[in-house]
Amino acid sequence: MTETSRKDESLRRRLIELTRDLIIIPSTRDRPEDIQRCMEFVVNHVELPNELTVRRFCEKGSPSTVILPRNVSAPEVLLLAHLDVVARPQGAAYHSSVNDGRIYGPGSGDMKGELAILLEIFRDFHERCSGISLGLAVTSDEENGGNHGTRFLFEKVGLRCGVAIIPDSGSLNEIAIEEKGILHLKLKAHGSSGHASRPWLAENPLEKLISKLTEVRNYFETLKSADGHWHPTFAVTVMQTENRVSNRIPSFAEAVCDVRFPPPYSSNQVISQLKRFMEHKMELEVLVSAEPTKVSPDPLFLTATEEITQKPVTLIREHGGSDARFICGYGIPVIMSRPYVGNLHAENEWIDIASMETLYHIYQRYFEKKLRPGDR
Ligand SMILES: [Zn+2]
Repeated sequence: MTETSRKDESLRRRLIELTRDLIIIPSTRDRPEDIQRCMEFVVNHVELPNELTVRRFCEKGSPSTVILPRNVSAPEVLLLAHLDVVARPQGAAYHSSVNDGRIYGPGSGDMKGELAILLEIFRDFHERCSGISLGLAVTSDEENGGNHGTRFLFEKVGLRCGVAIIPDSGSLNEIAIEEKGILHLKLKAHGSSGHASRPWLAENPLEKLISKLTEVRNYFETLKSADGHWHPTFAVTVMQTENRVSNRIPSFAEAVCDVRFPPPYSSNQVISQLKRFMEHKMELEVLVSAEPTKVSPDPLFLTATEEITQKPVTLIREHGGSDARFICGYGIPVIMSRPYVGNLHAENEWIDIASMETLYHIYQRYFEKKLRPGDR
């Protein structure tokens, strides 16, 4: 075995082990103690030589940690990740397996595998190049909107950096530069309950809600464009009443909808449009609101990606959203690429191991160009 292949083998093993150790902690929103445990694990993993400063925050119950070189408040490069994962259906196990060159498990692709890469490279560079201007921020409420994580850190704490790296969007050679805006809305309908054998005596809020949702869906159909689904979309994700019996008409019903929209639409514009559909005894509540994002990645990173992969880079649009939206407003370039992943937020979520190693090497090449550790 050559020195290089021994190094590669050891990197692969470390990335797999660390990802699997992170997956086994069910760090979902409904388990705050596991979020906390996962954060401890992350901080402990980044062995802290004396020259690093660890700052911990807890905004509205969501912990975040920022690790910076001592005496540096705005690092040249800041690595960002979230450790929260979306909850799986009840009874699902937070286990992982390695198969066909992939790590399978809840949160493997979004984004515990990516977090493992960041932790490894952060530790490696700080061990080898003391004082390098490289920071790390780990948050825990991205899947819930990011307000108490990345937004809090940039808006309230005043965190700044030269370039931000968030491997939570795009692909290896497809670097995301635009993301749609997001609205999570709750539609509520009130009515009057009654026996289902005499529906004419009741005002059924569930049926009112269904017909309203159809109207809204028809409206979104009119906004379609032929441009790769780069138009507003609408999906009903939750629908519920307090009713538990089949022969009773409920007095209240609600639905949660997920709306995604590209520029030039804005969240206020979409909300006021939807408000026009609301009738008497109906309400619209905004749960999450985020504007569309446009970021500019560092050209040096594009070069590093092309050198390592030997393939051209394309700049793409993403339908999903990420924490980049809280950063790009400060004029900070954001880099969004990630390994090959699949089935995010669903059963059999996976991350491809070889592409994790490739991204690690891309970061390595980029830091060498950007931070010039050899000049120290
Ligand atoms: Zn994510």
